[in-house]
Amino acid sequence: LDDPDLWQLDAADVGRAWPVPGPEDNKYSQGVTGVAAGSATYPGAAVLATGSAVLATSGMVRYAGPAADVVRSRWPEVVATGSVTDAGRVQAWVVGPGIGTGREGREVLAHVLGVGVPVCADADATTLMAHRPDVLDARDPGTPLVLTPHAGEFERLMGRPPGEDRVASVREAAAKYNAVVLLKGNVTIVAAPDGRVLVNVARGSWLATAGSGDVLSGLIGSLLAGGLEPWLAAGCAAYVHSLAGELAARGVPVSASGILTAIPDAVRRVRAGV
Ligand code: AMP
Ligand code: MG
Repeated sequence: LDDPDLWQLDAADVGRAWPVPGPEDNKYSQGVTGVAAGSATYPGAAVLATGSAVLATSGMVRYAGPAADVVRSRWPEVVATGSVTDAGRVQAWVVGPGIGTGREGREVLAHVLGVGVPVCADADATTLMAHRPDVLDARDPGTPLVLTPHAGEFERLMGRPPGEDRVASVREAAAKYNAVVLLKGNVTIVAAPDGRVLVNVARGSWLATAGSGDVLSGLIGSLLAGGLEPWLAAGCAAYVHSLAGELAARGVPVSASGILTAIPDAVRRVRAGV
């Protein structure tokens, strides 16, 4: 931990970075987050990722995908459509949770990478990149990218597991993909392509539950849409995600929906700097 490029955020850092609307703001200027997630088989991934974007910051959340009806009924404030090509303008995209690794998922990912706004690619989106690297040819050269693999997804992206020196491995992945790479785990590591690394140490292990990662991707997307620099967006999201997990759990098992519900409390805490 005595690497000068290794950072650890505290509550006050995250609270200062968190987007807060001013008197001149409106729903568009605060950031419109697009979420391309879910499928007929996995509608829950769409509900969780859009829900965390709704609760985190956003002026507006747009959803695009096959779970539009489910998302609409759960989050009436979300503008939902069936296809990314009809989604309208957004300031950042979240893509991947539950989209599958087939042709449809690949087309959605390619579309989103070509829009020219920051993208958080999670779950199936990382697997699609690993199996079909040519999908990255669709990436607009100016598109900031945040990849959020767990250890298995990381192994697919890099062809080997994170290994002993996780910090060095994540740095390599960030350089290889010219992206911010967030490696999940009890200690989450966030590396930028320029070598900066931030670590977030979990408060307990209750976050290791199904759907937890979908909540994180929505948080990252909404901070990207709110204008945060991608490395900081990923770090702040990891902090609030683990704090929400702790607040929701209080020593007993917690569901991803429980983590979601605790997001406002977690944001309140960081805004207060505690
Ligand atoms: P996913 O595997 O995509 O659902 O994401 C799991 C989430 O839980 C990530 O935010 C991980 O950092 C977190 N997580 C997984 N395992 C642990 C653990 N043992 N302790 C703390 N957090 C964990
Ligand atoms: Mg996941």
